[in-house]
Amino acid sequence: MSDAAPRDPYELLGVARDASPDDIKAAFRKAAQKHHPDRNPGDEGAHERFKEINAAYQILSDPQKRAAFDRFGHAATQPGGFAGGVGFNGVDVNLEDLLGSLFGAFGFPKGGRGDLRKEVVLTFHEAAFGTTKKISYDRAVSCSDCHGSGAAPGTRPEQCDACGGRGKIRFTQGLLGFVAERPCAHCSGRGFTVSKPCGSCRGVGIVAAENTLDVQVPPGIEDGATTMVNGAGNVTRAGRAAGDLELLFRVEEHPFFKRQKDDVFCSVPITFTVAALGGEVEVPTLDGKAKVRVPAGTQPGAQLRLKGKGIPRRNGSRGDQKIEVTLEVPTDLTARQRELLEQLAKELGEEVLPQRRTFVEKLKDLFG
Ligand SMILES: [Zn+2]
Ligand SMILES: [Zn+2]
Repeated sequence: MSDAAPRDPYELLGVARDASPDDIKAAFRKAAQKHHPDRNPGDEGAHERFKEINAAYQILSDPQKRAAFDRFGHAATQPGGFAGGVGFNGVDVNLEDLLGSLFGAFGFPKGGRGDLRKEVVLTFHEAAFGTTKKISYDRAVSCSDCHGSGAAPGTRPEQCDACGGRGKIRFTQGLLGFVAERPCAHCSGRGFTVSKPCGSCRGVGIVAAENTLDVQVPPGIEDGATTMVNGAGNVTRAGRAAGDLELLFRVEEHPFFKRQKDDVFCSVPITFTVAALGGEVEVPTLDGKAKVRVPAGTQPGAQLRLKGKGIPRRNGSRGDQKIEVTLEVPTDLTARQRELLEQLAKELGEEVLPQRRTFVEKLKDLFG
């Protein structure tokens, strides 16, 4: 891919020759999002387009490189040319900026240890009983073609002249002449420069690669729980250890169940005849359907309990399932049903129910 002539960066980002830095930045963000490999699964070309867009931005976001491109055109951007390498031809190319825009485009934070964060979405059932989840994501890794050196295969990086390979420059500071050190700008603190950059990573030594992990999810995990996977984050600089990956677990809502600590809560409508006479209702549980006995005279809002049908605990036991009873009052009665209910109402008229009696008494107290 490095052998193909790079396309015009203005054309790639779709900006005018006199576009402002802000316009260029906005166009880059838009293009990077559109062509991000994550958004184009199965599209082999997306990775290449994404790299091209990144390369175009490296040129146009840097005033020096942009000016060089405007003057010399493609010659300035070809491998071995002015913009292809790091610290090449006496022009300081800031590696942190290069990485910054590469990481920025991937949603990686700039700088830091290369830690990443990723959400893992679980169903209610998976969260309750635990599972193994396969997750795939892009991260920055050391370029395998150049082993992270940034030098084209068959070439070697050269010791940096400016810092003698130390990667740091000493300078005296203040009136008292304190000797301090800062990273060498010529080699971006790497201690070496690359005259023929590796085509795969454009001399950065780092590329984006997909990582796949099997995540063991323990039973009973709660929404919002996190876990760390050491070394599964980004490599922010060749030769440095990768950052960590923090996984944030999200549990999907369930159509019936709500979690209350180790218990599973649900509400089940029953008919008023079952509530009055008692009976059996079928309820969903984490383990499939179950039958629950409704005692005669069950009031709306009463709670029934299924022992051991809740969330598994660490010690192997399980919470309960709590079932709140709601009353379903029939509508669209047939003439016969209505007649029966009217008879029942007449019957019940003799016998005042306790709650109703209290209510009637309170009403009397209030209005005399
Ligand atoms: Zn490389
Ligand atoms: Zn140096």
